[in-house]
Amino acid sequence: MSIMVPSTTPALITPGRQALDSALHQLAQAAEHLGLDDGLRTMLATPRRSLTVSVPVRREDGRLDVVQGYRVQHNVSRGPAKGGLRFHPSTDIHEVTALAMWMTWKCALVGIPYGGAKGGVAVDPAGLTTRELERLTRRYVNEILPLIGPEKDIPAPDVGTDEQTMAWVMDTYSVNAGYSVPGVVTGKPMTLGGSLGRAGATSRGVQIAALAALGGSPEGVTVAVQGFGKVGALAAQYLSDAGCKVVAVSDVTGAVYAGSGLDIARLRAWVAEEGGVHGYRHADALARDDLFELDVDVLVPAALEGAITEANAPRIRARLIVEGANGPTTPQADEILAASGTTVVPDILANAGGVIVSYLEWVQNMQAYSWSSGEVELKLRDLMQGAYSEVKSLAAERGLTLRQAAHVIGVGRVADAHQMRGLYP
Ligand code: NAD
Repeated sequence: MSIMVPSTTPALITPGRQALDSALHQLAQAAEHLGLDDGLRTMLATPRRSLTVSVPVRREDGRLDVVQGYRVQHNVSRGPAKGGLRFHPSTDIHEVTALAMWMTWKCALVGIPYGGAKGGVAVDPAGLTTRELERLTRRYVNEILPLIGPEKDIPAPDVGTDEQTMAWVMDTYSVNAGYSVPGVVTGKPMTLGGSLGRAGATSRGVQIAALAALGGSPEGVTVAVQGFGKVGALAAQYLSDAGCKVVAVSDVTGAVYAGSGLDIARLRAWVAEEGGVHGYRHADALARDDLFELDVDVLVPAALEGAITEANAPRIRARLIVEGANGPTTPQADEILAASGTTVVPDILANAGGVIVSYLEWVQNMQAYSWSSGEVELKLRDLMQGAYSEVKSLAAERGLTLRQAAHVIGVGRVADAHQMRGLYP
């Protein structure tokens, strides 16, 4: 039997630990601005529940692997916990905690009645067969079963998971309950109670945020997108559909560039066949991380945390960054970008389209009813544009960056909810 346990070397600062440090830094700034007392700051800086589980997986060749899984509920003052499920080899408890915390502020910022959660399994899904992935997902869900439920904590897709994963989550939970419970998870296939518009919702939200921040016509605005997965590929598509010229995209396999603009539909078809942008013949190859330094108007990081750091921030030429990913910019990079006049539409605002339509999916499930794609799109647009305007006004009024303003609003609402409820016992 082999045991796959993540390194716990104390001296090692993992990407997850860096993400948590960033999240705590952003919280501390907002708490200072809001004048929150020390006790409340500590409440908001610590998750209400964290569960670490060992997930045994039977491999096709009969071996048994054991991987680490996590579910963190950061805060439930405003409603049930809500947050994605990530399958990635470097996921750890710190990363999952940071992602759960950002979910709390995001839900509060866009005004949906959820707290924040996140789940993760430290595994590379590309290294598993479909049957292995199914066994892994079902066992992980079984291990975290006491925490989740439509009124308690509702998972959704994130890096390395998709509609199929969500279908297995729904089935495993339902088999244990003894009846079908579609509301336990969002981002499901349509046949299992998924919502129209959910698959592209995060990317649609990125498009709405980018167009709002651009203000004028998007025609000919040049864009580079880091990450060409669920969020990045459709963000590139929607921005291109709106008239922007998407000149470069990257994924884990490489990057491609075309000064006259990439044909995103064609590139998506290539990636669906080949598994990555590497080798795409209708554009020039680019070193993966050179994408950040291109002379473009808009940069959309849509991969993982910590993509924009103090090392590459000084060389970024885009005047607008719209964060499709969670936590792509470190606090040090944020300061450099603010000083150089670069506008950053922060993750908790720019990528909130996903959780907004997850919420709409859950509402439809709870009512056993379904809305048209037009109704879903309208509600998404309303909530995104409303949140953008609030953040923009507060930033202008108080001389804050958009990230600081978004955190002041999100953290402030959670603090208010906590104080109104009072402390039990
Ligand atoms: P995904 O697994 O579908 O795609 C991730 C993409 O990033 C892949 O194309 C991968 O190749 C690429 N990538 C990884 N490392 C890279 C690197 N070093 N350089 C360039 N590309 C790299 O994941 P996703 O669901 O698209 O999520 C992407 C980001 O968006 C994450 O930060 C996630 O938390 C955030 N997010 C996702 C959703 C959602 O609904 N899926 C919602 C809100 C936020």
